[in-house]
Amino acid sequence: MAYSDEARASYGRDLEAIREAGLFKEERYIRSPHAANIEVEYPAGAAGRTVINFCANNYLGLSNHPEVVAAARAGLDRRGYGMSSVRFICGTQDIHRELEERLTAFLGTEDTLLFPSCLDANAGVFEAILNEQDVMIADRLVHASIVDGMRLCSAARDTYKHGSLAHLEEKLQEHQDKRYRLIITDGVFSMDGDLAPLAGIVDLAEKYNAMVFVDESHASGFIGRTGRGTHEHCGVLGRIDIITTTLGKALGGASGGCVSGRREIVELCRQRARPYLFSNTVAPVIVSGALKVMDLVQASTERRDKLEANTRFWREGLTRIGLDIKEGDSPIVPVMLYNAKLAQDVARDLYGEGIYAVGFFFPVVAKGQARIRTQLSAAHEMDHLERGLAAFETVGRKYGILGKNKDEIKDMYGL
Ligand SMILES: *Cc1c(COP(=O)(O)O)cnc(C)c1O
Repeated sequence: MAYSDEARASYGRDLEAIREAGLFKEERYIRSPHAANIEVEYPAGAAGRTVINFCANNYLGLSNHPEVVAAARAGLDRRGYGMSSVRFICGTQDIHRELEERLTAFLGTEDTLLFPSCLDANAGVFEAILNEQDVMIADRLVHASIVDGMRLCSAARDTYKHGSLAHLEEKLQEHQDKRYRLIITDGVFSMDGDLAPLAGIVDLAEKYNAMVFVDESHASGFIGRTGRGTHEHCGVLGRIDIITTTLGKALGGASGGCVSGRREIVELCRQRARPYLFSNTVAPVIVSGALKVMDLVQASTERRDKLEANTRFWREGLTRIGLDIKEGDSPIVPVMLYNAKLAQDVARDLYGEGIYAVGFFFPVVAKGQARIRTQLSAAHEMDHLERGLAAFETVGRKYGILGKNKDEIKDMYGL
């Protein structure tokens, strides 16, 4: 028997163990488009409830923007639904190349190649350009898809302490005998919302003859004065060798990713990157919507400016209430609860108050670092933010965590 009773029982025990550890993840069904208010069916089968969304990557509020939807619809009519092939056989339309050119101009790079997702971009890029003679030196908190991409590459792997230029410098010194050194980091780290010290990283790269890779998934469209990303914020536009990013967050929120950067590196990805070679790229409907997104983000900074103002208001509000948040500049604002069960209980009660925010815990973050990650959007109006803060205050009071620091919360709830 292929799927034996033994296999079934042992997988069942694995699932039970996940449940018992309080780590079981449940999906909630959304019945509406993405916006500040969404209609959620939870638990499955329950009547739909309208709640305010504080956990989407819809940073610029473009996921259901009428102009984006209209452009996608027009693209669907003009270029059809499916691509029916991978890019290099017959799966590339003119609009795919047009979007790549728009991304190149926006990111300030030399060329860009679309991928089915940013996870795929990260899975393909390292193997395409590095081999056993090289080394990849990554920040310890890079996104899981980068870790996977590094595993697929035969170059040596090393890491440096999160955000530590001193430790990175030691590693660069240690690896001077290698052919190429590639420094790898997220621009904005998705769990803590902090920014990589890109100016220092680029300086070290020059000093020690290394290349720099930055994943801008949580930055493209809104970080930096005109939203071009962490490299703009840090004053190093044009000095990053490889950028990967996603269309699945601020830039419309549908799906798709890219590798953007030095011309030869992008061309090598076109020749060798396996997710590009062996998987269909983004559908025309999404490309058409994304082209409109590029128009919108390049025409005006209004949305990123509103996002910045919303973020400031939210950070100040949570701090005033007495919640323990991670400081930073990005619209990712983690409310620290440390204990996984507490994070789930608080998320459930927030939902009862009409606020949708999800608890994050191991293995998504380190053990003892459970939190509710709130994310702001340009789609939020003042009223949404005020109701969100009121809900956090009510629930925080119920659990006795207002005004409590990390050690006090850990004493109350353990890890
Ligand atoms: C979300 C995310 C990805 C994955 O993006 P997809 O396009 O959804 O695959 C990759 N890297 C980082 C840093 C992310 O936050």
